[in-house]
Amino acid sequence: MFASVLIDIRKLSRTVIAVALLGCVMVLNGMAEPARAAECPGNPNALGTSRTLVVDPTEHPRIGTMQYRETLPLADHEVVLTFDDGPLPKYSNQVLAILASQCIKATFFEIGEQSKANPEGVRKLAAAGHTIGTHTQHHPLTMNKMPIEKAKQEIDDGIASALAALNGDKSKLAPFFRIPGLMRAVGVENYLASQGIQTWSADFPADDWRHISPQRVYDLAIQRIEAHHKGILLLHDIQPRTVAALPRILATLKERGYRIVHVVPATADRPATPTEPQQWFMHPPSETVAVSRWPRVPNFVYTASKTLPAPVFSDLDWRDAEALDHAQHARIGQPHQALWPQPHVAPIDPASTLSAPAASVFRIPEGESLTLLAARSHANHGVAQVAASAAPRAQALPARQVKGAKKTAHLPPGAAHGKGRPAPQHAEQNADSVHVASLKKRAPRAEAAAIAKRVPD
Ligand SMILES: [Zn+2]
Repeated sequence: MFASVLIDIRKLSRTVIAVALLGCVMVLNGMAEPARAAECPGNPNALGTSRTLVVDPTEHPRIGTMQYRETLPLADHEVVLTFDDGPLPKYSNQVLAILASQCIKATFFEIGEQSKANPEGVRKLAAAGHTIGTHTQHHPLTMNKMPIEKAKQEIDDGIASALAALNGDKSKLAPFFRIPGLMRAVGVENYLASQGIQTWSADFPADDWRHISPQRVYDLAIQRIEAHHKGILLLHDIQPRTVAALPRILATLKERGYRIVHVVPATADRPATPTEPQQWFMHPPSETVAVSRWPRVPNFVYTASKTLPAPVFSDLDWRDAEALDHAQHARIGQPHQALWPQPHVAPIDPASTLSAPAASVFRIPEGESLTLLAARSHANHGVAQVAASAAPRAQALPARQVKGAKKTAHLPPGAAHGKGRPAPQHAEQNADSVHVASLKKRAPRAEAAAIAKRVPD
């Protein structure tokens, strides 16, 4: 009798221990989801909110893989819903109702102007337990290039407007911020970080701000979530297409085993959810996957630094052995490296080289008198090659055909036509020889006349 009672007690103990162990295993595996039916009265099939993630903005100031290295530390099949640009009562209230029907908590990034115009919409978010972040005062799409002071003003004013709508209750406003149009800028991000504000990008949008159908919004949302298996979805609660697509998006997420995570900021009495650094990456590196990493350059530590003396000019003397060696190479036409920049000299085209003139070209027939004149130009007073142009004309005028050849053959070219002045006297002294008369010895007036006659009639 006693023994059987003892056995029953042992069996009972085993059962209790087994049940307790099972419960521990379920908790450790994350299978112990909240009692959704209890949290979501009236909708036992609600998608619900699986857990609350507490994040410290100062530890992770920028999140969202669309733009940053880190994103929220989500587990596989966990999704965070975010809505921008509200509150706009007509559509924002519908979004709130849809989320409420599914007992889903999301994060809203509110525009300051909208908050001022619809402060009740901001208070509704707080009352429903959603997270409220900000999205500037006027939603400028130029945060990437506007002066930082103006950007700061946009950020600060947006926060002030949201706070005003919340009656100044800072505990209801999260230090979360999304840059309009995701037009990020380092200065803006640095300012936000300095204020302890977390910059939220996203992991995927659904393009619901574009003029596309609700079906397309649904397709893009599901396709992109499925491509990543987890992440932050960017939506807009001011768009009718989003209102139309949202119920189906949530239903599909439920069907496919996705879970919604609610994100809140850490506070003094609400510490951040413990995480490992690799959890903040969309695809954390695994020890089972080889990752190639370049070896880091070692940091050398120098015991002493010594500045070498500057070279003196004599060190640069080109007449050293190496320079001479180069020069020698250059002389025999071997390839060499120029010692200093040299002007490029184009090679001579052999085809353009003229053959040497025959000796007969220079022979002057007997009995002919010819005078070649050299003139100085007015411009430079140098010796010009007037003779080169004068000689053919002189040669074309056979001396024998001219009356008084001995007197006329030595005249300037124009004089043969009877228009020129008589040649200088010294040219007549030896009419059978070739004279090159320098105009240096001629009067300026005669020089001008000679030049004028070179112009074709
Ligand atoms: Zn926006």
